[in-house]
Amino acid sequence: MPTILLGTSNHNKRAELSELLLPFGISICTLADFDVKPEVVEDGTSFIENARKKAVEYARFFKMPTIADDSGVSVEVLDGAPGIYSSRFAATPTNPNPTSEANNKLLLERLASVPAEQRAAFYTCAAVFAASSGEIICEAEQYCRGRIIFELSGNEGFGYDPLFEIIEYHKTFGSICPAIKKAISHRARAMRKLIPIIIQTKW
Ligand code: IMP
Repeated sequence: MPTILLGTSNHNKRAELSELLLPFGISICTLADFDVKPEVVEDGTSFIENARKKAVEYARFFKMPTIADDSGVSVEVLDGAPGIYSSRFAATPTNPNPTSEANNKLLLERLASVPAEQRAAFYTCAAVFAASSGEIICEAEQYCRGRIIFELSGNEGFGYDPLFEIIEYHKTFGSICPAIKKAISHRARAMRKLIPIIIQTKW
């Protein structure tokens, strides 16, 4: 099987995706392996649109089969925000690329007066696999449900993980054992849909 490119510049997502794919003997490389890369503007109106755009543009540019994902957290009482804007939630004109700390702080501010029972949230991961021609071979969108707690908890994971509680475990993805995130996350679920097709289909 030819090497597959992971088309994401987020090193945390690359690490999680690599771990999910390695047991299947899928050989991967990442954008970090290349000096020159195209800038893909994430201007879609949905996770899947952005994921398709990334997979197709990276596949065509590098002439490599590519997996790309677009993901984020949606909070029900905030009408789904930050959603596709998760990485840029706390962006300002002078700081277009806020840190996770700034995003988390803003999320807590927006939810300051919201009681625990109204803090339901879910992660979404849209993942797309494109052949080296840019043809989309398969795609999946999967979710992971939880709620936003009142203060940061734990150092595992990345992004919103210290605030995102998996209710069944009474723990955030920031404080849960990483093996559990690897089993139940939105990204793991999306990869479980794609992997059998990637392995079985001729592309
Ligand atoms: P993307 O790179 O444009 O897909 O943006 C993804 C953003 O969504 C990240 O920067 C995080 O803010 C958030 N996000 C997505 N998946 C996760 C996750 O598994 N844990 C925590 N935050 C996540």
